[in-house]
Amino acid sequence: MTPPVMAAPPANPAPATGLRPHGQGRPCVITRRATFSASHRYWLPELSAEENQARFGACTIAPGHGHNYELIVAMGGGLDADGMVLNLSDVKHAIRDQVTGQLDFRCLNEAWPEFDLSRPEGTLPTTEALVHAIWTRLAPHLPLMGLRLYETDKLWADVVGDSMEAFLTIRTHFAAAHRLARPELSQEQNDSIYGKCARPHGHGHNYLLDVTVRGSIDPRTGMVCDLAALQHLVDDLVVEPFDHTFLNKDVEHFATTVPTAENIALHIADLLSEPVAAAGAALHKVRLQESPNNAAEVFAEVPQLGMRPHALEALAGA
Ligand SMILES: [Zn+2]
Ligand SMILES: [Zn+2]
Repeated sequence: MTPPVMAAPPANPAPATGLRPHGQGRPCVITRRATFSASHRYWLPELSAEENQARFGACTIAPGHGHNYELIVAMGGGLDADGMVLNLSDVKHAIRDQVTGQLDFRCLNEAWPEFDLSRPEGTLPTTEALVHAIWTRLAPHLPLMGLRLYETDKLWADVVGDSMEAFLTIRTHFAAAHRLARPELSQEQNDSIYGKCARPHGHGHNYLLDVTVRGSIDPRTGMVCDLAALQHLVDDLVVEPFDHTFLNKDVEHFATTVPTAENIALHIADLLSEPVAAAGAALHKVRLQESPNNAAEVFAEVPQLGMRPHALEALAGA
């Protein structure tokens, strides 16, 4: 068989004007993941045992408890002549030397002086305080764009600079049924807009809900807001009233608003904005995942800060 005739590629493809081979000089963001296991304990010596227990719950129990932390490091810059932002071997060594080699299998309260609570400037080793401390230690060595630290798959913190500002996300879930249909339209019209989702007796989802707040890390408690209070707000205002309901009939708002993932996420943002502000942080984002295949995100701040931790988002579901 005669091979198809193909035009020969140019011996040396000419780069577009001003660009060099191997992407040299063009900007790119790269991410690197690292893990470590460490223990910690929340206990402020200036508070009584009762006050510590009331504020920090089980995190006060001696000698402490541990987590398997996952760190995502986003770095940016122009590509070098080898087509890389940085040599990954250098990235690996910097993260190991500055962070994981110092923290893995250690107690955070003792590993770094930032978390020595006997010092007046010591900070509780919360997720957001830890990711901020990691930023200050990595920034001299790597061109950081953002850091994300997972304490668990239900709690993580992002920082995008060396200020005390951090984004804290908690993940929860609820199960609910809904039907997508506009009451003023016929069944046929609703079928044509919403497809199977317009079937008369509804269907259900296990919704995953991520609530992200933004705030300044308190220099002593290490928190952008009271984590237990935030979890209670989400439970009381969203999970409890939504879980195991038929949203169209059981949640008043959806008697007149079609409960699409977008509308549910918007309603959750409206429910949480003021109470989160009263708790001392700003509601930044609500992300509602309806199924493995679709999710809706609402950036709740006005003016919107946009998608600042976005470089880290691509790895969130990985
Ligand atoms: Zn903990
Ligand atoms: Zn649905």
